Amino acid sequence: MSEDGPDLVVVGAGGGLVAALRAAERGLDVLVVEASEHFKRGNNTAMSTAMIPGAGSRWQREAGIEDSPQQFVDDVMRKTKGTADQRLALALSNVSAPLVEWLSDHLRVRLDLMTDFSYPGHSRSRCHTVEGRQGGALLDHLVRSVADEPKIDMLIPARLTDVSVDEDGAVIGVSVTMQDGSMEFIPTRAVLLATNGYGANVEFVSDYVPEIASARYHGSEYSTGDALIIGVRLGADSAFLDAYQGHAALSKKATTLVGWATVMHGGVNLDLEGRRFGDETTGYSEYAALLAARPQSEGWIVIDRHIYDKCLAFNDFRQTVDSGAAAWADSAEGLARVTGLPESAVLEELAALESYARRSATDPYGRTSFEHELVAPYAAVRIVPALFHTQGGLVVDQSARVLKPNGQPIDGVYASGGAAMGISGHGAAGYLAGNGLLSALGLAYLAADAAADSV
Ligand SMILES: Cc1cc2nc3c(=O)[nH]c(=O)nc-3n(C[C@H](O)[C@H](O)[C@H](O)COP(=O)(O)OP(=O)(O)OC[C@H]3O[C@@H](n4cnc5c(N)ncnc54)[C@H](O)[C@@H]3O)c2cc1C
Repeated sequence: MSEDGPDLVVVGAGGGLVAALRAAERGLDVLVVEASEHFKRGNNTAMSTAMIPGAGSRWQREAGIEDSPQQFVDDVMRKTKGTADQRLALALSNVSAPLVEWLSDHLRVRLDLMTDFSYPGHSRSRCHTVEGRQGGALLDHLVRSVADEPKIDMLIPARLTDVSVDEDGAVIGVSVTMQDGSMEFIPTRAVLLATNGYGANVEFVSDYVPEIASARYHGSEYSTGDALIIGVRLGADSAFLDAYQGHAALSKKATTLVGWATVMHGGVNLDLEGRRFGDETTGYSEYAALLAARPQSEGWIVIDRHIYDKCLAFNDFRQTVDSGAAAWADSAEGLARVTGLPESAVLEELAALESYARRSATDPYGRTSFEHELVAPYAAVRIVPALFHTQGGLVVDQSARVLKPNGQPIDGVYASGGAAMGISGHGAAGYLAGNGLLSALGLAYLAADAAADSV
């Protein structure tokens, strides 16, 4: 590394590692600064289900699935009711297939296209994932690739506290706080803020996303909004701060993810009065606030053996049931008994579900997709709503450059993932599965290319 410091400082060893690896491939010297010694298990990339969209990927072509970046953008705009930033959605859709192919070809990440069920809002099967469907495996792979790359150094634990600019507003270096409390200044011309959003910042959450403030936060403890605070101090614009990904399927007992595959394969949510309360297939993110508004803000996911077996493909689900969070029952009456829900309500709901699945009645909530009739034995997992991550942040352009309110970039400052504004529009309902990681990995990839182009 030269006396002038690294060509690029990547702050945050989650999706940011993609920027480090791409920048190194493009010939840059990179320093990764990471605040947490436990990032490999504690950050959001590690906690994720590792679903990465790739519109028009070779896996889709091989499976005979026709898709395109424009098709993906159309899905994003439909799910966000036209409120997402279309320019950014297109940039991310365009990079999505090259990104998953690069992960596979350049980094040798073993990816598969997930075709066994559809996530709400995606008109095509386009989520690619690793074996076990858990982000820890993806992150481990990125960390190993970084360790093998001589052009990348890592500084851990070290927390970014400031970014310095010269009189023209161009980056000249970053300040980090070391574990012993000492400060270090690292000269550089480019910095990528990849520190995630503000989900762990209680004050920001109650200010920007009050509807989910009472839910359990299930994300990185280091997502304290540092990029937002530092970026705004530098004069950056911010947007979509009310956007977040919630989840209505966190096991109360195991505090692990039950997963929405349960619902998409035919499972249902019951509240503590034993009643369904909406069309579960609209999306797990918006369902979190619905669940939070039910009595005691809790409920149950009810599935059967067939769904249970299908969901074992997810390590998260496996861990949840291995921890004993699933209660089994041989009958509807037994289901009421093991869950403690009112028997009459449970019997009524199960009978109604049978008629919807057989198409002899219509679901009053408008749900049309019931893969099959739920049949005993039933399994039920007690669930609480959760906030996974926030989706608003610093305004960026198609190259992940951080912009000021006048639309001009702050020279040398980039943002990705939860640190940047996302493509989920406002609130929770615009979130499409995979768009958290797409923003994290995709903007990181684009930032690395932009940084390499400007050296
Ligand atoms: C349970 C769960 C499941 C999910 N599943 C999916 C999924 O399947 N698909 C999908 O697209 N999205 C999913 N998401 C969302 C996805 O995980 C995030 O959108 C994405 O991982 C964010 O990546 P990131 O790089 O912005 O943040 P992170 O991966 O959290 O990385 C940020 C890093 O920055 C570090 N850091 C923070 N502040 C500082 C600082 N000041 N200085 C230095 N370092 C700092 C943190 O310690 C952390 O390691 C899921 C989220 C959760 C919680």
